[in-house]
Amino acid sequence: MDISVVVPLYNEEESLPELFSWIQRVMETNHFSYEVIFVNDGSTDRSWNVIEELASKHQEAKGIKFRRNYGKSPALYCGFEKAQGNVVITMDADLQDSPDEIPELYRMITEDGYDLVSGYKQKRYDPLSKTIPTKLFNATARAVSGIKNLHDFNCGLKAYRKEVVKNIEVYGEMHRYIPYLAKNAGFNKIGEKVVQHQARKYGTTKFGLNRFVNGYLDLISLWFLSKFGIKPMHIFGFLGSIMFIFGFIATIIIGISKLYAMSHGLPYILITDSPYFYLALTTMILGTQLFLAGFLGEMIARNAPERNNYKIEKEL
Ligand code: UDP
Ligand code: MG
Repeated sequence: MDISVVVPLYNEEESLPELFSWIQRVMETNHFSYEVIFVNDGSTDRSWNVIEELASKHQEAKGIKFRRNYGKSPALYCGFEKAQGNVVITMDADLQDSPDEIPELYRMITEDGYDLVSGYKQKRYDPLSKTIPTKLFNATARAVSGIKNLHDFNCGLKAYRKEVVKNIEVYGEMHRYIPYLAKNAGFNKIGEKVVQHQARKYGTTKFGLNRFVNGYLDLISLWFLSKFGIKPMHIFGFLGSIMFIFGFIATIIIGISKLYAMSHGLPYILITDSPYFYLALTTMILGTQLFLAGFLGEMIARNAPERNNYKIEKEL
C-alpha cells in the first residue's frame, strides 16, 4: 500500500464526509493505493456513525473508536500502530489542511528521501491570539530541538516514512514535537513544505490558550529526557558536587579566618552570626540533595523498560 492517511478527530461530524471524498478524489487521480484511518477520540457527536457509514461504503475507510477522549497524541499513536502504507500522512479532520498536498508530500518522501516532511502554514487563517504565540513557540522549539529548518512544528499535516512512525512513541501531548521525537530516534532528514491553510469550516477549535503553557512544559521535559533521561546523574551529580564542594570550601575558609582572627587578637564574631556561614551551609545541603536526586534518578533509569531499547536500522 502506498499511503495511509491518519486523521485524529474529536467532534468533527460535519467535516468527515467532505474530507473523505476529497482524499478519495486526490488518491484516485494519482493512482495511489491507500487507506484512511479515522481515529475517533471519544467524540460526543455523530462522528462515529459517519465513520461507520463511510467504512461500509468504502474499503479504504477504516476507523478506531476510543471509549473516551484521550487527546490528539494518543489518537495519532493508535493510528500509527494500525497504518500499513509506505508513507503515512497525518491530517486534521477540520478541513483546515488540504488533501491536495498529498501527492507532493508523497513525492518528497519517496523520491527526495526525506524521513519526515512537515507542512508549513505560511499564510494562516487563524485568529491573531493564536498566530503570535505560535511564532514564539516555534522559535523556542527550533532552538531547543536543533531542527533549524522547521517553521511550524505543530502543523497537523505531515508525511512520514513508515519506519519513522513505527519507531517513535507519541504520548501525552507530544504531537507538537513529533519532528523532535523523530530526530531523537535517529531520523535526521526532516523537511518542510509550504501548504495551503484554510479557516475552520465547521465546529470549533479543540485547544485553548493553555496549549502554549503546556507546550513549553512538554518541550522542557523532552529536552531534559533526550539529554539526561538515561543518565540523570550526569546533570544532578555534576551540579550537586559543584555546590557541595563550593559550600565545603566556603565553610573551611570561614572557620580558618575565625581561628586566624582569634589567634592574632583581631576582632571576631560568632560563626553563627555570619551570613556567609548560612550561605555555605545551604549550598552544602542543596548540593547533597541534588546529588541524591541524581542517584535516585539513576536507580529509576536502571529499571526503565526502555533502557536498552535501541532502534536498530540494519543488521547483517
Ligand atoms: N483532536 C483530537 N482530540 C482532541 C482534540 C483535537 O483528535 O482531544 C483533533 C481535532 O478533531 C482535529 C485535530 O485534532 O482534527 C486538530 O484540532 P483543532 O483543529 O481543534 O486544532 P487547531 O487547528 O485549532 O490547532
Ligand atoms: Mg484545526
